[in-house]
Amino acid sequence: MSGIYVHIPFCESKCVYCAFSSFAGQLDKQQGYFEKLKEEILSSKFTFKVDSIFIGGGTPSAVDKNFIAEILSVIKSKFEVNEKVEITIEANPNSLDRKKLEFYKSIGVNRLSIGVQSLENKTLKKLGRLHNKAQVFKVLKEAKGAGFKNINCDLLLGLENESYNFLKKEINLLKKYATHFSCYMLQVEDDTPLKRMVLKGLVKLPPDEKTIENYRKLTKFLQKKGFFQYEISNFAKKGYVCQHNLNYWKRKNYLGFGLGAHSFMEEKRWANGLSFDKYFKGEKSFEETLTDRQKVEEIIMLGMRCYEGIDKRELLRYGYNIEENADYKKFLEQKVLFLEGDKIKINPKFYGASNLVIERLI
Ligand code: SF4
Repeated sequence: MSGIYVHIPFCESKCVYCAFSSFAGQLDKQQGYFEKLKEEILSSKFTFKVDSIFIGGGTPSAVDKNFIAEILSVIKSKFEVNEKVEITIEANPNSLDRKKLEFYKSIGVNRLSIGVQSLENKTLKKLGRLHNKAQVFKVLKEAKGAGFKNINCDLLLGLENESYNFLKKEINLLKKYATHFSCYMLQVEDDTPLKRMVLKGLVKLPPDEKTIENYRKLTKFLQKKGFFQYEISNFAKKGYVCQHNLNYWKRKNYLGFGLGAHSFMEEKRWANGLSFDKYFKGEKSFEETLTDRQKVEEIIMLGMRCYEGIDKRELLRYGYNIEENADYKKFLEQKVLFLEGDKIKINPKFYGASNLVIERLI
Protein backbone atom coordinates (compact mmCIF):
# COMPACT_ATOMS: atom_id res chain seq x y z
CA MET A 1 0.00 0.00 0.00
CA SER A 2 1.36 3.44 -0.93
CA GLY A 3 -0.20 6.85 -0.65
CA ILE A 4 0.09 10.43 -1.80
CA TYR A 5 -0.64 13.43 0.39
CA VAL A 6 -1.26 16.86 -1.14
CA HIS A 7 -1.16 19.84 1.19
CA ILE A 8 -3.39 22.85 0.48
CA PRO A 9 -2.23 25.55 2.93
CA PHE A 10 -5.06 28.04 2.39
CA CYS A 11 -7.76 28.84 4.93
CA GLU A 12 -10.45 31.48 4.96
CA SER A 13 -9.51 32.47 8.49
CA LYS A 14 -7.23 31.09 11.18
CA CYS A 15 -8.87 29.10 14.00
CA VAL A 16 -7.64 30.15 17.44
CA TYR A 17 -6.12 26.76 18.28
CA CYS A 18 -4.49 26.05 14.92
CA ALA A 19 -0.78 25.32 14.70
CA PHE A 20 -0.92 23.65 11.28
CA SER A 21 0.82 24.94 8.15
CA SER A 22 -2.09 27.00 6.98
CA PHE A 23 -2.54 30.65 6.08
CA ALA A 24 -5.54 32.94 5.97
CA GLY A 25 -5.94 35.79 3.49
CA GLN A 26 -3.48 34.36 0.95
CA LEU A 27 -5.88 32.96 -1.62
CA ASP A 28 -4.33 35.27 -4.23
CA LYS A 29 -1.32 32.89 -4.16
CA GLN A 30 -3.45 29.95 -5.39
CA GLN A 31 -2.46 30.07 -9.03
CA GLY A 32 1.28 30.15 -8.35
CA TYR A 33 0.99 27.54 -5.62
CA PHE A 34 -0.77 25.03 -7.83
CA GLU A 35 1.76 25.60 -10.62
CA LYS A 36 4.53 24.75 -8.17
CA LEU A 37 2.60 21.73 -6.90
CA LYS A 38 2.23 20.37 -10.42
CA GLU A 39 5.91 20.89 -11.07
CA GLU A 40 6.81 19.13 -7.82
CA ILE A 41 4.61 16.11 -8.58
CA LEU A 42 5.82 15.76 -12.16
CA SER A 43 9.48 15.98 -11.17
CA SER A 44 9.24 13.34 -8.44
CA LYS A 45 11.95 10.68 -8.86
CA PHE A 46 9.66 8.03 -7.33
CA THR A 47 7.10 5.89 -9.08
CA PHE A 48 4.75 3.42 -7.42
CA LYS A 49 1.19 2.23 -7.56
CA VAL A 50 -0.98 4.65 -5.61
CA ASP A 51 -3.62 3.17 -3.30
CA SER A 52 -4.72 6.37 -1.56
CA ILE A 53 -4.65 10.09 -2.22
CA PHE A 54 -5.37 12.53 0.59
CA ILE A 55 -5.95 16.19 -0.19
CA GLY A 56 -5.54 17.87 3.17
CA GLY A 57 -4.81 21.24 4.66
CA GLY A 58 -5.50 23.91 5.43
CA THR A 59 -8.90 23.93 3.79
CA PRO A 60 -8.87 22.29 0.35
CA SER A 61 -12.56 23.13 -0.12
CA ALA A 62 -11.66 26.85 0.11
CA VAL A 63 -9.65 26.89 -3.13
CA ASP A 64 -10.93 26.97 -6.71
CA LYS A 65 -12.25 23.46 -7.36
CA ASN A 66 -10.65 23.33 -10.82
CA PHE A 67 -7.19 23.36 -9.19
CA ILE A 68 -8.11 20.20 -7.28
CA ALA A 69 -9.19 18.54 -10.54
CA GLU A 70 -5.90 19.54 -12.20
CA ILE A 71 -3.83 18.12 -9.36
CA LEU A 72 -5.67 14.81 -9.48
CA SER A 73 -5.13 14.50 -13.19
CA VAL A 74 -1.44 15.36 -12.81
CA ILE A 75 -1.09 12.61 -10.20
CA LYS A 76 -2.87 10.18 -12.51
CA SER A 77 -0.59 11.11 -15.40
CA LYS A 78 2.56 10.63 -13.32
CA PHE A 79 1.69 7.57 -11.20
CA GLU A 80 -0.06 4.30 -11.76
CA VAL A 81 -3.22 4.59 -9.67
CA ASN A 82 -5.06 1.59 -8.23
CA GLU A 83 -8.54 1.38 -9.71
CA LYS A 84 -9.91 1.11 -6.17
CA VAL A 85 -7.95 4.14 -4.96
CA GLU A 86 -9.31 5.97 -1.92
CA ILE A 87 -9.38 9.72 -2.63
CA THR A 88 -10.14 11.93 0.37
CA ILE A 89 -10.65 15.66 0.46
CA GLU A 90 -10.75 17.68 3.67
CA ALA A 91 -13.48 20.28 3.73
CA ASN A 92 -15.12 22.81 5.98
CA PRO A 93 -18.91 23.11 6.01
CA ASN A 94 -18.90 26.82 5.13
CA SER A 95 -16.92 26.29 1.91
CA LEU A 96 -18.95 23.41 0.50
CA ASP A 97 -22.16 23.30 -1.49
CA ARG A 98 -24.02 20.78 -3.61
CA LYS A 99 -22.39 21.94 -6.85
CA LYS A 100 -18.87 21.65 -5.45
CA LEU A 101 -19.65 18.26 -3.94
CA GLU A 102 -20.96 16.96 -7.26
CA PHE A 103 -17.84 18.30 -8.95
CA TYR A 104 -15.57 16.50 -6.45
CA LYS A 105 -17.51 13.30 -7.05
CA SER A 106 -17.15 13.68 -10.83
CA ILE A 107 -13.33 13.94 -10.59
CA GLY A 108 -13.04 10.76 -8.52
CA VAL A 109 -13.05 11.97 -4.90
CA ASN A 110 -14.77 9.19 -2.96
CA ARG A 111 -14.20 10.17 0.67
CA LEU A 112 -15.04 13.41 2.45
CA SER A 113 -13.48 14.50 5.71
CA ILE A 114 -15.52 17.31 7.17
CA GLY A 115 -14.24 19.58 9.93
CA VAL A 116 -17.34 19.60 12.12
CA GLN A 117 -15.44 20.01 15.45
CA SER A 118 -18.57 20.83 17.47
CA LEU A 119 -22.31 21.30 17.06
CA GLU A 120 -22.43 24.08 19.63
CA ASN A 121 -22.57 27.41 17.80
CA LYS A 122 -21.13 29.43 20.67
CA THR A 123 -18.14 27.11 20.93
CA LEU A 124 -17.56 27.15 17.17
CA LYS A 125 -17.49 30.93 17.23
CA LYS A 126 -15.03 31.02 20.11
CA LEU A 127 -12.76 28.58 18.28
CA GLY A 128 -12.74 30.89 15.27
CA ARG A 129 -14.60 28.45 13.05
CA LEU A 130 -16.65 30.04 10.29
CA HIS A 131 -19.51 27.53 10.19
CA ASN A 132 -22.48 26.75 12.38
CA LYS A 133 -24.54 23.69 13.21
CA ALA A 134 -27.14 24.34 10.49
CA GLN A 135 -24.40 24.45 7.83
CA VAL A 136 -23.01 21.12 9.02
CA PHE A 137 -26.30 19.33 8.41
CA LYS A 138 -26.99 21.17 5.17
CA VAL A 139 -23.64 20.00 3.82
CA LEU A 140 -24.03 16.45 5.12
CA LYS A 141 -27.40 16.15 3.37
CA GLU A 142 -25.93 17.58 0.19
CA ALA A 143 -23.00 15.19 0.37
CA LYS A 144 -25.39 12.24 0.59
CA GLY A 145 -27.40 13.71 -2.27
CA ALA A 146 -24.23 14.03 -4.36
CA GLY A 147 -23.59 10.31 -3.82
CA PHE A 148 -20.89 10.34 -1.11
CA LYS A 149 -21.05 7.19 0.99
CA ASN A 150 -17.75 7.52 2.83
CA ILE A 151 -17.92 10.54 5.13
CA ASN A 152 -15.72 11.36 8.10
CA CYS A 153 -16.65 13.95 10.69
CA ASP A 154 -13.82 15.49 12.73
CA LEU A 155 -14.80 16.29 16.30
CA LEU A 156 -12.81 18.06 19.00
CA LEU A 157 -12.79 16.83 22.59
CA GLY A 158 -11.80 18.85 25.63
CA LEU A 159 -13.78 21.95 24.70
CA GLU A 160 -15.10 24.54 27.09
CA ASN A 161 -18.27 23.44 28.94
CA GLU A 162 -18.03 19.97 27.40
CA SER A 163 -20.29 17.26 28.76
CA TYR A 164 -20.49 13.61 27.85
CA ASN A 165 -24.24 13.96 27.24
CA PHE A 166 -23.63 16.67 24.68
CA LEU A 167 -20.95 14.58 22.92
CA LYS A 168 -23.38 11.67 22.81
CA LYS A 169 -26.03 13.92 21.32
CA GLU A 170 -23.58 15.07 18.64
CA ILE A 171 -22.77 11.50 17.65
CA ASN A 172 -26.45 10.58 17.57
CA LEU A 173 -27.17 13.46 15.20
CA LEU A 174 -24.15 12.92 12.97
CA LYS A 175 -24.18 9.14 12.71
CA LYS A 176 -27.06 9.29 10.25
CA TYR A 177 -24.54 10.64 7.73
CA ALA A 178 -21.07 9.70 8.96
CA THR A 179 -19.32 6.38 8.36
CA HIS A 180 -16.24 7.50 10.26
CA PHE A 181 -15.39 9.75 13.19
CA SER A 182 -12.03 11.27 14.10
CA CYS A 183 -12.15 12.52 17.68
CA TYR A 184 -9.13 14.58 18.62
CA MET A 185 -8.35 16.21 21.94
CA LEU A 186 -7.98 19.97 21.69
CA GLN A 187 -4.31 20.85 22.16
CA VAL A 188 -3.29 24.24 23.51
CA GLU A 189 -0.25 24.94 21.36
CA ASP A 190 2.33 27.65 22.06
CA ASP A 191 2.00 30.87 20.08
CA THR A 192 -1.68 30.40 19.33
CA PRO A 193 -4.47 32.83 20.27
CA LEU A 194 -6.03 29.98 22.26
CA LYS A 195 -2.99 29.78 24.51
CA ARG A 196 -3.26 33.48 25.24
CA MET A 197 -7.01 33.19 25.81
CA VAL A 198 -6.47 30.35 28.28
CA LEU A 199 -3.74 32.29 30.11
CA LYS A 200 -6.00 35.32 30.40
CA GLY A 201 -8.89 33.18 31.67
CA LEU A 202 -11.03 34.03 28.64
CA VAL A 203 -11.42 30.33 27.88
CA LYS A 204 -11.79 27.76 30.64
CA LEU A 205 -10.96 24.31 29.36
CA PRO A 206 -11.94 21.24 31.37
CA PRO A 207 -9.20 19.43 33.33
CA ASP A 208 -7.46 16.61 31.42
CA GLU A 209 -8.98 13.94 33.70
CA LYS A 210 -12.46 15.08 32.75
CA THR A 211 -11.64 15.02 29.03
CA ILE A 212 -10.12 11.55 29.31
CA GLU A 213 -13.19 10.32 31.15
CA ASN A 214 -15.48 11.75 28.41
CA TYR A 215 -13.23 10.19 25.78
CA ARG A 216 -13.45 6.78 27.45
CA LYS A 217 -17.23 6.93 27.65
CA LEU A 218 -17.46 8.18 24.09
CA THR A 219 -15.32 5.34 22.71
CA LYS A 220 -17.69 2.84 24.32
CA PHE A 221 -20.72 4.68 22.99
CA LEU A 222 -19.31 4.83 19.46
CA GLN A 223 -18.56 1.12 19.50
CA LYS A 224 -22.11 0.42 20.68
CA LYS A 225 -23.33 2.38 17.67
CA GLY A 226 -21.26 0.24 15.30
CA PHE A 227 -18.13 2.39 14.94
CA PHE A 228 -15.09 0.19 15.45
CA GLN A 229 -12.16 1.90 17.17
CA TYR A 230 -9.24 1.00 14.92
CA GLU A 231 -6.95 3.72 16.26
CA ILE A 232 -6.89 5.86 19.41
CA SER A 233 -8.79 8.74 17.79
CA ASN A 234 -10.46 7.00 14.85
CA PHE A 235 -13.69 5.05 14.58
CA ALA A 236 -15.20 3.50 11.47
CA LYS A 237 -18.20 1.52 10.34
CA LYS A 238 -17.33 -1.82 8.78
CA GLY A 239 -15.54 -1.28 5.48
CA TYR A 240 -14.84 2.42 6.12
CA VAL A 241 -11.45 2.42 7.82
CA CYS A 242 -9.33 5.22 6.31
CA GLN A 243 -6.73 3.42 4.21
CA HIS A 244 -4.56 6.50 3.91
CA ASN A 245 -4.15 7.00 7.66
CA LEU A 246 -3.66 3.29 8.19
CA ASN A 247 -0.74 3.53 5.77
CA TYR A 248 0.93 6.15 7.98
CA TRP A 249 0.55 4.09 11.11
CA LYS A 250 1.80 0.94 9.38
CA ARG A 251 4.84 2.86 8.13
CA LYS A 252 4.08 2.24 4.46
CA ASN A 253 5.56 4.48 1.80
CA TYR A 254 3.94 7.80 1.05
CA LEU A 255 4.89 10.96 -0.78
CA GLY A 256 3.77 14.37 0.41
CA PHE A 257 3.51 17.28 -2.00
CA GLY A 258 3.03 20.91 -1.09
CA LEU A 259 4.12 23.36 1.58
CA GLY A 260 5.34 21.58 4.71
CA ALA A 261 4.22 18.16 3.40
CA HIS A 262 5.96 15.11 4.89
CA SER A 263 7.17 12.08 2.95
CA PHE A 264 8.31 8.63 4.02
CA MET A 265 10.00 6.45 1.43
CA GLU A 266 12.31 3.50 1.95
CA GLU A 267 13.06 4.41 5.60
CA LYS A 268 13.81 8.04 4.79
CA ARG A 269 11.71 10.91 6.11
CA TRP A 270 11.67 14.45 4.86
CA ALA A 271 9.39 17.49 4.80
CA ASN A 272 9.05 20.48 2.50
CA GLY A 273 9.73 24.06 3.56
CA LEU A 274 7.20 25.59 5.93
CA SER A 275 6.67 28.97 4.27
CA PHE A 276 5.55 29.86 0.73
CA ASP A 277 8.96 31.31 0.06
CA LYS A 278 10.86 28.22 1.22
CA TYR A 279 8.47 25.87 -0.56
CA PHE A 280 8.76 27.79 -3.83
CA LYS A 281 12.56 27.63 -3.55
CA GLY A 282 12.34 23.84 -3.10
CA GLU A 283 13.83 23.91 0.42
CA LYS A 284 13.28 21.07 2.87
CA SER A 285 12.49 21.66 6.54
CA PHE A 286 14.23 18.39 7.41
CA GLU A 287 15.54 15.20 5.86
CA GLU A 288 16.78 12.09 7.62
CA THR A 289 17.48 8.40 7.12
CA LEU A 290 16.17 6.48 10.08
CA THR A 291 18.53 4.52 12.29
CA ASP A 292 17.44 1.11 13.61
CA ARG A 293 16.75 2.73 16.97
CA GLN A 294 14.45 5.32 15.35
CA LYS A 295 12.67 2.57 13.40
CA VAL A 296 11.97 0.70 16.64
CA GLU A 297 10.65 3.88 18.27
CA GLU A 298 8.36 4.57 15.34
CA ILE A 299 7.06 1.00 15.18
CA ILE A 300 6.12 1.21 18.85
CA MET A 301 4.74 4.77 18.75
CA LEU A 302 2.62 4.24 15.66
CA GLY A 303 1.68 0.59 16.25
CA MET A 304 0.53 1.16 19.81
CA ARG A 305 -2.03 3.68 18.57
CA CYS A 306 -3.73 1.05 16.45
CA TYR A 307 -5.93 -1.90 17.17
CA GLU A 308 -3.65 -4.05 15.01
CA GLY A 309 -0.75 -3.48 17.41
CA ILE A 310 2.89 -4.25 16.69
CA ASP A 311 4.68 -7.35 15.49
CA LYS A 312 7.41 -8.56 17.84
CA ARG A 313 9.35 -9.98 14.90
CA GLU A 314 9.55 -6.56 13.29
CA LEU A 315 11.15 -5.17 16.46
CA LEU A 316 13.62 -8.05 16.49
CA ARG A 317 14.56 -7.33 12.90
CA TYR A 318 15.89 -3.96 14.09
CA GLY A 319 17.70 -5.44 17.07
CA TYR A 320 15.14 -4.87 19.85
CA ASN A 321 14.07 -7.84 21.95
CA ILE A 322 11.06 -6.51 23.82
CA GLU A 323 10.98 -9.61 26.04
CA GLU A 324 13.96 -8.07 27.85
CA ASN A 325 11.93 -5.00 28.82
CA ALA A 326 10.66 -5.37 32.42
CA ASP A 327 7.82 -2.88 31.89
CA TYR A 328 6.57 -4.90 28.93
CA LYS A 329 6.25 -7.98 31.16
CA LYS A 330 4.52 -5.93 33.84
CA PHE A 331 2.03 -4.51 31.33
CA LEU A 332 1.23 -8.04 30.15
CA GLU A 333 0.60 -9.20 33.74
CA GLN A 334 -1.57 -6.14 34.42
CA LYS A 335 -3.48 -6.81 31.17
CA VAL A 336 -2.60 -3.34 29.88
CA LEU A 337 -1.11 -5.22 26.93
CA PHE A 338 -2.13 -8.56 25.47
CA LEU A 339 -0.76 -10.90 22.82
CA GLU A 340 -2.33 -12.29 19.69
CA GLY A 341 0.28 -14.58 18.14
CA ASP A 342 3.30 -12.37 17.56
CA LYS A 343 1.21 -9.21 17.78
CA ILE A 344 1.40 -7.03 20.90
CA LYS A 345 -1.77 -5.03 21.40
CA ILE A 346 -2.85 -2.43 23.88
CA ASN A 347 -6.04 -3.17 25.77
CA PRO A 348 -8.48 -0.52 24.41
CA LYS A 349 -9.41 0.30 28.04
CA PHE A 350 -5.92 1.80 28.38
CA TYR A 351 -5.84 3.90 25.20
CA GLY A 352 -6.07 6.97 27.43
CA ALA A 353 -2.70 5.96 28.98
CA SER A 354 -1.04 4.99 25.73
CA ASN A 355 1.61 7.72 25.91
CA LEU A 356 2.91 6.31 29.17
CA VAL A 357 2.88 2.74 27.79
CA ILE A 358 4.75 3.84 24.66
CA GLU A 359 7.35 5.70 26.72
CA ARG A 360 8.03 2.64 28.86
CA LEU A 361 8.22 0.26 25.92
CA ILE A 362 10.70 2.48 24.13
S1 SF4 B 1 -9.62 25.29 9.19
FE1 SF4 B 1 -8.17 23.75 9.99
S2 SF4 B 1 -6.20 24.26 9.06
FE2 SF4 B 1 -7.55 26.05 8.77
S3 SF4 B 1 -7.08 27.38 10.49
FE3 SF4 B 1 -8.82 26.10 11.11
S4 SF4 B 1 -7.88 24.32 12.12
FE4 SF4 B 1 -6.26 25.37 10.98
